[in-house]
Amino acid sequence: MTEMFDMLRELTDLPGVSGYETPVREYITERLGIAKVARTDNIGNLILEIGTGRPHIALVAHMDEVGLVVTKIEDDGSLRFRKVGGVDDRILLSRKVKIHTANGPVNGVIGIKPPHLMTDPEEMKKTVSFEKLRIDVGTRSRKETERLGIRVLDSVTLEKGLERLGRDLVVGRGLDDRVGCAILMESYMRLKNAKLRGRLTCVWSVQEEMGLRGAKVIAHTLNPDYVIVLDTCSSGDSPGVDEGHLQPAILGKGPAIRFFDSASIASPALRELARELAKRRKIPVQEIVAGGTTDATAVQEAGSAVIPIGVGMRNTHSTTEIVSLKDIENAVRLVVELVKSLSGRDSSSE
Ligand SMILES: [Zn+2]
Repeated sequence: MTEMFDMLRELTDLPGVSGYETPVREYITERLGIAKVARTDNIGNLILEIGTGRPHIALVAHMDEVGLVVTKIEDDGSLRFRKVGGVDDRILLSRKVKIHTANGPVNGVIGIKPPHLMTDPEEMKKTVSFEKLRIDVGTRSRKETERLGIRVLDSVTLEKGLERLGRDLVVGRGLDDRVGCAILMESYMRLKNAKLRGRLTCVWSVQEEMGLRGAKVIAHTLNPDYVIVLDTCSSGDSPGVDEGHLQPAILGKGPAIRFFDSASIASPALRELARELAKRRKIPVQEIVAGGTTDATAVQEAGSAVIPIGVGMRNTHSTTEIVSLKDIENAVRLVVELVKSLSGRDSSSE
């Protein structure tokens, strides 16, 4: 698990706001040593294929994360920005950020007005919309800011740094979906010499947080028979959170089969198979009903049978995303069993 923690830390430290995934793609390519065999399509998906023919199974995890992009440099040197993906305005205040320029990262902060300067006590209770916020990069003029290398359209990430929490949890920014990237990397390592029948395609996709765009391309260009999507899913077990009428995941209870979400319904046959394999192999799994969507929606619309496998996550899209390392390991085990079974390779005698 230490090895998985280290890989996750390296993965989450990388900036990869939707549309700016290159550092993540380069890391995965190098770490797996696949530069000669993998390819990158026009939108930026990293694609690695093993074998040929049918069945064609694809594993998909998205490299991008939610974040910000610089839209304007003000006369006073501060930056205006827009949000990329689902960022809650409430998490933006009092944050350290990094602006990713062509010359490397530059520090900035999104400040907060101190109580000492407030004239109306009600102000403290209000959410400030992102349109009203600025990034302070410690300069006093546009020229000075430009001298730091900052340009409009540079991407911005909120403070990073993965840490352990309790016995088996980790907390950080960008775990959605570097967790899926890591599960896919580890699954590939365990499957690459498995003599599978047919074709296995590993896809690290782009722009999921901006409308599943990378997966939409894959759906048309690859058109696999089966697609296993590896992502995170919001858990309902944070202190003080009422999950209401839904049944979200609980951390540590195993990977989640996400049969139903806001935009897709998984393949009933794949759901049955996952349940049966989990039982046979004694892999804990949970079945959840949650909101949101995954890349599965896009590929399903093009005709693939899909199953999203999620790792439960507290505080999704914030700077305090929390997942369980145990759930990650069990997700890898489930994915490996599913791929072997779908490829027709009987693994029951192992
Ligand atoms: Zn995600």
